[in-house]
Amino acid sequence: MFSTNSPRAISLFGSTGSIGTSVLDLARHHSDKFKIKILTAHKNSDALIAQAREFKPEYICISDETLYAELKQKLDMSDVKILGGAQGLIEAASIDTDIHIAAIVGFAGLKPILAGMAHCNIMAIANKEPLVAAGPLVKELAARYNTKIIPIDSEHNAIFQVFEKQNHAQISKLYLTASGGPFRDLNMEQCEHMTPAQALKHPNWSMGAKISIDSATMMNKALEVIEAHELFDIPADKIDVLLHPQSTIHSMVEYDDGSVLAQMGASDMRTPIAYILGYPHRIETSGQKLSFDQMVNLNLSPLDLNRFPAITMAKEAIAKGLYARIAMNATNEVLVEAFLKDNGHISFGRIVPYIKGIMAKQSPIMLESIDDIVDFDQHIRTQTIAFLSAQNFHNKKVS
Ligand code: NAD
Ligand code: MG
Repeated sequence: MFSTNSPRAISLFGSTGSIGTSVLDLARHHSDKFKIKILTAHKNSDALIAQAREFKPEYICISDETLYAELKQKLDMSDVKILGGAQGLIEAASIDTDIHIAAIVGFAGLKPILAGMAHCNIMAIANKEPLVAAGPLVKELAARYNTKIIPIDSEHNAIFQVFEKQNHAQISKLYLTASGGPFRDLNMEQCEHMTPAQALKHPNWSMGAKISIDSATMMNKALEVIEAHELFDIPADKIDVLLHPQSTIHSMVEYDDGSVLAQMGASDMRTPIAYILGYPHRIETSGQKLSFDQMVNLNLSPLDLNRFPAITMAKEAIAKGLYARIAMNATNEVLVEAFLKDNGHISFGRIVPYIKGIMAKQSPIMLESIDDIVDFDQHIRTQTIAFLSAQNFHNKKVS
């Protein structure tokens, strides 16, 4: 386990993103407690260089291979080893560390998580898509190497904090809270043609582009239902989503004796990240704390599942199996990217119906190895891209 006196070593995958920069803010605040060992980014080499100058890691990796030569030329630090490309990410994940922080966005984060499992004490996962697409594999490796998985995602981190493993059989419900995103008060017709700029405006959280769009479609909560099912071994029918516009209660666990344990905090990812960095102790956050007036007048109500069909779709995907979860996630990733490019190929309101359509087209298939999963994910992406380019998708219903 951890050495008690020396600073904890942190490997940070996705260091230039929203989660990545929150981790670095905490590391800056507690410079005596943590040593940043590895930083990785995909394209933003200038931000990566600035981070390297400030935190002096042993390794940095730029995963977009085409930027490797330029980065190497620009960085004037002879004691920092520079890695590049997909292989560089695997190499970086294979270096021993205390805490591996998985903060890459999307399925692209799967391989570094798998490679890192044998090389850290704590695997701190923000990157939910790999848990959706390959959760059983991730958990199998964690068990094999005795690595503790702790979720960063605020709902799952909240559940982790109040989850009594020894009373697993007495858990009657997990309640995931959802702010409802920027369009929660609009009906489906009203948000059909929302633009990327409108969809990116989350009322409570400041996050990366992909998760912001996922919050507007409710796909984020759909992915989180699967994430919770996977992380806590709780069946889908015991997971409910509650609309909670304030994002103060991050989630709750109900036990058979009637106790409901909740975790509250500001809408600031530095709280769940601080929980992990200090684990099993608590450290001071560098972020916001709740004020008393934010702890009163909280609204909780059942989510309208007709208005937000993504939740039922996620539960169907759980029932169908891994192939359906991969189809759901991969289609979503392709469509969100297309939507963000705003090239008129896709309207906001068609995202979820199309995911449902492509999921329904798939036949069950056994996916056991990492190669099986990566191939099937690629197959779905190809199918989705072909569909998008074959027709003017704008406004069309999926048949
Ligand atoms: P972001 O877009 O802000 O940052 C993503 C990071 O991943 C960047 O450092 C980027 O360089 C890197 N990256 C992007 N594509 C990559 C690729 N193909 N290969 C390797 N690296 C790549 O995203 P974010 O909002 O920080 O979210 C990261 C993950 O955490 C997502 O899975 C998201 O769902 C999850 N999460 C985020 C928040 C949040 O508040 N932002 C909350 C809960 C969970
Ligand atoms: Mg979340």
